[in-house]
Amino acid sequence: MSDCLFCKIVRKEIPAKVLFEDDLALAFEDINPKAPTHVLVIPKKHLESLEEAGREDRECLGHLVMVARDLARRRGHRQSGYRTVFNTGPDAGQSVFHIHLHLLGGRQMAWPPG
Ligand code: 5GP
Ligand code: ZN
Repeated sequence: MSDCLFCKIVRKEIPAKVLFEDDLALAFEDINPKAPTHVLVIPKKHLESLEEAGREDRECLGHLVMVARDLARRRGHRQSGYRTVFNTGPDAGQSVFHIHLHLLGGRQMAWPPG
């Protein structure tokens, strides 16, 4: 989708602090961080949300999770822990409709989330 914000970040039309990139995925710092580590891990392929994902996306979605895990380790959160979240739809407060996995770490998290 050409007018999608995160597709523009994938195409480097909008700048972002990129931490990881490969054929399938891109990870970059969230512009409005909610924790010392707040990274977004996205597929390069445009998918609106988890609701749009199909069986053919399973490998890609699994890859996003492993990329987030590796970045959490790189940030030193292996022992202290971290959170990985997909917000899906209005009740979850999804605001950008290109699927993204939030990686949050570096502080104690509350549960349940608000
Ligand atoms: P959502 O609310 O959809 O789960 O998360 C969207 C996230 O994207 C938010 O945490 C927001 O701060 C982040 N975000 C929105 N616009 C930009 C942007 O232009 N650049 C970056 N790096 N993050 C963005
Ligand atoms: Zn997109």
